[in-house]
Parts: sequence; C-alpha cells; structure tokens
Amino acid sequence: MDDLTKQLAQHFGFSAFRPGQREVIDAVLSRRDAMAVMPTGQGKSLCYQLPATILPGLTLVISPLIALMQDQVNALKARNIAAAAFHSGLTEQERDRVVLHLKLRRLQLLYLAPERMQHERFLRLLRSLWVSLLVVDEAHCISQWGHDFRPDYLNIGRLRRELENPPCLALTATATARVQADLCERLSLHDPLRLVTGFRRPNLALSVRLCRSRQEKLAVLERMVREYETGTILVYCATRRAVEEVATCLGRSDPSVGYYHAGLSDEERRAVHDRFCAGALRVLAATNAFGMGIDKSDVRLVVHFDIPGSLEAYYQEVGRAGRDGQPASCLLLFHKRDVATQEYFIQQAAKESSSAARVERMKTLLQDMLDYVSVQTCRQLAILEYFSDEAERAFGPCRLCDRCVVTRPVREAVADDEVACARAFVAAVSWCRGRFGVTRIVELLRGSRSKVLLACGAEACPEYGLYHAWSKPALTRLGTTLIDRGYLRVEGEEYPTLDVTKRGREVLEGMGPVELGRAESSTPAPTNQAWG
Ligand code: ADP
Ligand code: ZN
Repeated sequence: MDDLTKQLAQHFGFSAFRPGQREVIDAVLSRRDAMAVMPTGQGKSLCYQLPATILPGLTLVISPLIALMQDQVNALKARNIAAAAFHSGLTEQERDRVVLHLKLRRLQLLYLAPERMQHERFLRLLRSLWVSLLVVDEAHCISQWGHDFRPDYLNIGRLRRELENPPCLALTATATARVQADLCERLSLHDPLRLVTGFRRPNLALSVRLCRSRQEKLAVLERMVREYETGTILVYCATRRAVEEVATCLGRSDPSVGYYHAGLSDEERRAVHDRFCAGALRVLAATNAFGMGIDKSDVRLVVHFDIPGSLEAYYQEVGRAGRDGQPASCLLLFHKRDVATQEYFIQQAAKESSSAARVERMKTLLQDMLDYVSVQTCRQLAILEYFSDEAERAFGPCRLCDRCVVTRPVREAVADDEVACARAFVAAVSWCRGRFGVTRIVELLRGSRSKVLLACGAEACPEYGLYHAWSKPALTRLGTTLIDRGYLRVEGEEYPTLDVTKRGREVLEGMGPVELGRAESSTPAPTNQAWG
C-alpha cells in the first residue's frame, strides 16, 4: 500500500480510489492545475479533501452551495480534519471564530461563499495566509456558456492573482467542451490536467422520433405510456401550456398522471413533488423547472415532448432515467415546428437582455441540439464528445440508441407509412388464402414465432415481420378499419377468418386507393425498435 492509499484509509476509511480521483490528487499534490468533470456522487470532494490533509498551507474552496457547506464541514471535523465555512449565514460570533482560527493557522480547509470575495478586509486576511490550493467547486458557474452562470464567480480570477497564483483545482459535475475551455481560460489554468469521466450511461437507450405533427407526437406518447406498465414516466415539455395539454391528454385514461411547472403555487408544486417521490404518480408532465434534487431511481422512460434549448439540458433531463442501473428509454419527439418555441425564447431573451453575445450563445446551443437530432452516429458517443469525455468514449458505441440498433432502413421507411402498412395487411391476408383471422395476420406482420404460423410457412410471406416495429393494438385497429372500409371481409362464425374483397383486390393490383378515412390524430404510428 502506498502512502496516499494509507492516507485514504486513515482519514476517510476507504480502501481504494474511485476512477479519476488518484490522477487529480497526484496533479494537485505536484502543484499542477487541474480540472475535473465528474457526475454527482462520483467523489469529487475527496480530490481536494485528501490533499488538504497533506498540503502545508490552507486549502480554500469556493462553493456556492451554502446549504451543503456545513454538512461537509461537520463530516470533515468528524474525521479530524480542521475545516470551517465562511458565508453570510453565520452569526457575527461564528465569523469571528473562523477569522481567529485562520489567523492562528489552525485550519486546513476553508469553504468560502463566492460573494465573500468582495469583502476587502477578508481578502487582506486571506492574502496574509499561505493558500496551498484554490478549489473552485461548481466551476461551470464561471462560464456564460453554462446553464448556471454566476457573476460573482468572475471575481475568482482576481482572487487567484491576489493570492499569488496558488495551484487551482476546478470541479464540476457538468460542463460541455465549450464550458471546459471557458473555465480554463477564466481561471487562467496553466497546462491543467483535464479529467472528464463518468458521462456514459450504459443503461439508457436514446432515441429520436421525427413526427409530422403535434397530433402524431401525442399519439406516440399516448401509446408509449400505455405500453410502459412498470416504473415511472417523465414527460418534459417546453412550455406550461404544453405540460397541461399533455397531462390532459394522458390523464383522460389514467388518474395517476400529474403535472408540474413554475406556474403552480409553492404548495401545489410541493404536493406534486411529494406524490412523485412517493410513487403515487405514474406519469408526470413537467417543464424543466422539475428535476433538481430528484432522486427517484425507477424512472423507466423520459420523453421529451419538445426539443430543449441545449444538449446539456437534454442530457441532464434524460439523466433522471434509470438511476437504478436497469434499462431505461429516452425518447425525443421531434417535430420541426417545435424549433419555433425555442426560437421564441431566444427572441424574448434578445428583447429583455442587452447582451447580443448571450443571444448568440443561445442560438449556438440550440443549433448543437438540432445537430444531435440528425446525428448519424451513435447518440451516446455524440454526447460524450460534447462533454469531451474521452475516457468513456473508449467504450465505443452504446448498441442501444436508435442509431446503433441495426435497422432495416428500407423496411423502416415503409413502416412509417400507414397506407403502405394497410396494403401489406391486405397482401398478407391474400397470401394466407383465408386461413387466418385478424390476430394471426397481426402476428405475421410482426414476425411472431408462433407455432401455427411457422407450421404453415408464414416466414415465406413477403410481409412476414415487415411491421415488427408496430404494436399489436395498432395493427389490430388497422385490420378492423380495413374490414369496416370494405377491403377485407370476415368469414365463418366459429373460427372467423379474413379474406380479400373486390375492393381489396384492386388495392393489391395497384388499381384502387387505400382510404382509411380517419383523422391524422389516430394514426397508429410505429414504435421504434430501440424502445418498442
Ligand atoms: P460529488 O462531489 O462528486 O458529488 P462526493 O464527493 O459528495 O461526490 O462523494 C460522494 C460519496 O462517495 C460520498 O459519500 C463519499 O464519501 C464517497 N466516496 C468518495 N470517494 C470514495 C472512495 N474512494 N471510496 C468510497 N467512497 C467514496
Ligand atoms: Zn448508440
């Protein structure tokens, strides 16, 4: 056991480092700047807490999360590490005590709220100390490319210079490649170790479905919700109106549907939140206002009913699926007109804020998101690239996303068209020469391995398995429509079988049109393989 591992065991009671920790700690101890991007829970704090026990001077941690500071300090004290926090929530007395301990050089680690950097007197005190390491927690807050820019953070660069450039460690759970570059620059990191790891989510099947209308999106969503019998479903929408529309649409047949957006009262929101966490809600439609601090492990499906404004936001939201490590699906329903909603948000921002640069940034982030929709390679890899997670990219394609799942492109294209499906239905009935009823024909179209079907050589039928991506109810509905519309007829009472009518023949011979005579909204759209 080397010295560092001994320290780990002695101070923290852990027997081994987690991926990435050792590299960051080695860099920090050799006075090299470092940036570590690791998801929440991976153990970022250890990357400076362990060095704090070894370094000769003070480890100064800038953190915006005052609520968490005290917990951290208490945990450190329990491990015999001299730590304290300094923020506006302290009483005068408590503050004096921290200052005294600092003056007496008794502290190894100090947590500091960013707004404290403006207090001259406190800065003077810090300058008189030996700061061995400056840690910037939630470092993405320094970048305007990130989702949580905090102007206070811009003072960190100055603080660092005034402290005569101690080595700096930047930590965050989320930073795109752009944010990473930005924070390295703003913190003046010199040849930093860049460690990005842990962004791969091997149990998430990512997919995008292009829809031709809002009705189609609703129809797909409705079917998905019906098909997912276990676990919780989250549906993200861009606007409050869409949230309520979706909830109403789904709620008609399902009482365990809820919704959440910033327009609800505090009380209402808390109630929804509690019901969701307690498992009383099966489906929740929400804006991005929902999700912070959600720790529900059995979310099986996250649907984006509208396109989000950035890929980072998107990944954060789908990241709430499958926390238990079990397979989960993430489906983005994309209708090209939805982009208008995001463009509207950008226009509003342009009106409200004077910063043209911000508007440009929003446009770029939206374009990144649109590029993701049409990306032709593995979606998981595309996202890892967006976060510069080289370590995880090495695992290769995810084999789960809609780009990885081997599809039969031509057949897929065919399957997208209900009229083509209707033709295939009639053709299959014709091929079977009156032997089967609706149920068997549906099985045939879906490529079922049922004994009866295989025994009569159904695999040889050209339509066999052609509509494997369609659900049973959707195909059954289509069959019923074809009967109602006079393309097929039912024969026999005890064992009703299907046959093709004269009208149906015309369709097969390319002489007659297929008229299903139903509104677009009831179009049974095909399921995608990745989640079908
Ligand atoms: P993050 O800041 O990345 O969200 P934390 O630093 O809060 O994560 O650590 C998450 C949990 O992992 C904590 O309970 C911490 O004690 C634990 N942890 C960190 N490093 C290790 C390790 N090497 N072995 C075991 N547990 C660890
Ligand atoms: Zn993939």
